Amino acid sequence: MSPPASTKVDLLIVGAGPAGLALANWFRGTNIKVLIVDKKPGPTPRGQAEGLKSTTNEIFDSYGIGPQVTAESWRLEEIACWGTRKDGGEGIVREQVIPDRVAELGKPRETMLQQSRVEHHMLHNILSHDNIEIRYSTAPISVDVDTSCVHEADTFPVSVSLEKVTTNTNTTNGDTTNGTNCHATNGHHINGQNGHQPNEHDAPSDMISAKYIVGCDGARSWLRKQLDVSLEGDLTDSVFGVVDLVPKSNFPDIRRVCYLRAASGTILLVPRSNKEVRMYIPVESGTALPDPKDLTFDRVMDAARKIIAPYTMEVGSVSWWSAYRVRQRVGNHFSRLNERAFLVGDAVHTHSPKAGQGMNTSIQDAYNLGWKLRLTLRGKVRSSGARQDLLRTYESERRPVALDLIAFDKGFLKLFAAPSAQFDTEILQALKFTTGLSIRYPPSCAVQLPKGIEQLGPSLLKADLVPGKRLPDFRVVYQADGVPTWMHKRLSATGQFRVMIFAGDISDSTASKRLHDVGKYLGESKSLKHVVMPQSEQEPLVEVLVVHCAERDLVDLLALPEVYRPWSDESGYDFWRVFADVESVHDGHGKAYERLEIDRQVGCTVVVRPDGYIGAVLEVDDVEGVERYFEGMNVS
Ligand code: FAD
Repeated sequence: MSPPASTKVDLLIVGAGPAGLALANWFRGTNIKVLIVDKKPGPTPRGQAEGLKSTTNEIFDSYGIGPQVTAESWRLEEIACWGTRKDGGEGIVREQVIPDRVAELGKPRETMLQQSRVEHHMLHNILSHDNIEIRYSTAPISVDVDTSCVHEADTFPVSVSLEKVTTNTNTTNGDTTNGTNCHATNGHHINGQNGHQPNEHDAPSDMISAKYIVGCDGARSWLRKQLDVSLEGDLTDSVFGVVDLVPKSNFPDIRRVCYLRAASGTILLVPRSNKEVRMYIPVESGTALPDPKDLTFDRVMDAARKIIAPYTMEVGSVSWWSAYRVRQRVGNHFSRLNERAFLVGDAVHTHSPKAGQGMNTSIQDAYNLGWKLRLTLRGKVRSSGARQDLLRTYESERRPVALDLIAFDKGFLKLFAAPSAQFDTEILQALKFTTGLSIRYPPSCAVQLPKGIEQLGPSLLKADLVPGKRLPDFRVVYQADGVPTWMHKRLSATGQFRVMIFAGDISDSTASKRLHDVGKYLGESKSLKHVVMPQSEQEPLVEVLVVHCAERDLVDLLALPEVYRPWSDESGYDFWRVFADVESVHDGHGKAYERLEIDRQVGCTVVVRPDGYIGAVLEVDDVEGVERYFEGMNVS
């Protein structure tokens, strides 16, 4: 037999689920060579996840697939809470209907789209890029990292041998499941095992040398085991059936998200497309916990009918059902081997699916890691130490998110058995948490606190415009043509930082001079000029944007310093960098300054990272603060 061929790639991604595909999307339009391998024979035919939080939809916007995803998605607008009757009678009654809304977002909090469609859009977004290759029916069988050269930028320390996989099954996410019965009525059987079943025809098919390897290979991650990462946490005492079906029911809120709380447990009901609903149904078995393997569909539905009574629930078509016992676990490391190997998504955290967090968190992990790898692989980070510092922030930023998620999940599961009043208030708080608005990454090279400040004080901790938090989204209009846009839609995933100058009312001469001075400095400063001004061969590392609140016709865009409207010989002026916080022709006033609590006279400057999180908040003319940020990042 001839020796296996060897291929060199910059990045090897194991797993083409939500996390792997989200990660790969960062490398579109670059010359970074990415190989994704997945043991399944082709794209996910169905998948379990559905709920997309608005912060995940912002990621899709930045990848340019937001419109397609939104067009197919189902919006969730209301949550109905049902409980036992207070008059001692039997059955459940509606207690209240809560808007499914988080005021700070100003847009729908959650939409529903089946995992396979979400993956479809991410997959199709990368297929036309020659630098990204995806191989199905392929799995790694060994990995070796040469630690002697991990500090040098252009080395390929990761060696992996791949093999072709012949599977007679498809894989389940397996994330929260344990001893699962996973069934589909369309004749497709999902066996809930590791899926990878090499047969006698399997043979090493390729040797890969890579600079970095990332395991996006789900809850039973192969790479996690190779890296000796252990999961901390345990099985819960919650056993649930989950059913996707067309219900034939006289229950009046069947098309709303519902919490149905009866003496025998709480059902979470979520409407889906195609007249289907998903129900998470607690299953009890006297005092002993049932083994999910022993549960039958009829038994799960009997438990559901008991809770929903006196309303009826007959079964129309069933597209999928399963039973599981929740595991709540987090990996003790998210990166290994001097930040040459990473784990993302379900590979490093699992929890109950009921808060709809798994797919969202997996995509958001990948989004966090992707820009750091992109910057590193494009040679933008100057030293080996700085590269490692930056890549280390993946673990320091995302592991606490996973730990918080598990803590939340524990409370959320208990909440299902809590008294009504507590339940209702906590559900409202949960809406905010699950949207990701409370995430704040700790200080690091990428999250810098104001000079002389070691820790954020209580008032700043509560504010939204704070280093380490996601830039709150806001709607403004383009100075050039009055077209309204949400800011995150404008922040496409190009790998660029944005220096966003909230210049205030620049029809006032003081504010106008300040903006001019800042622009001149940024465009001419020795340390910043080459990162903010367009270079001939590639986009600059930093885009400078202006958000003012003057009347538009009092502002002359072309009279502003060049850095705010650079010229290129190919396409003339860049008209898409200056925005006004004013009334738009059709969509009203976004009130950005008010929403962000920025003083219209004072303004401020915000350094926004490529992932839309805030790197620094500075005084509006603190150009040295801007320099300090990029020096701290050690990028050029
Ligand atoms: P996975 O989706 O598991 O993808 C891993 C990929 O790696 C797969 O394609 C697999 O084939 C591949 N792979 C595995 N091992 C190997 C190997 N050795 N070699 C090569 N390839 C390999 N999340 C939400 O956000 N919202 C929801 O509403 C929601 N509902 C859920 C309902 C249920 C019943 C369940 C069980 C989960 C739900 N989740 C939900 C969770 C969500 O499905 C997962 O968190 C999400 O799919 C994780 O994405 P991932 O890419 O990390 O892993």
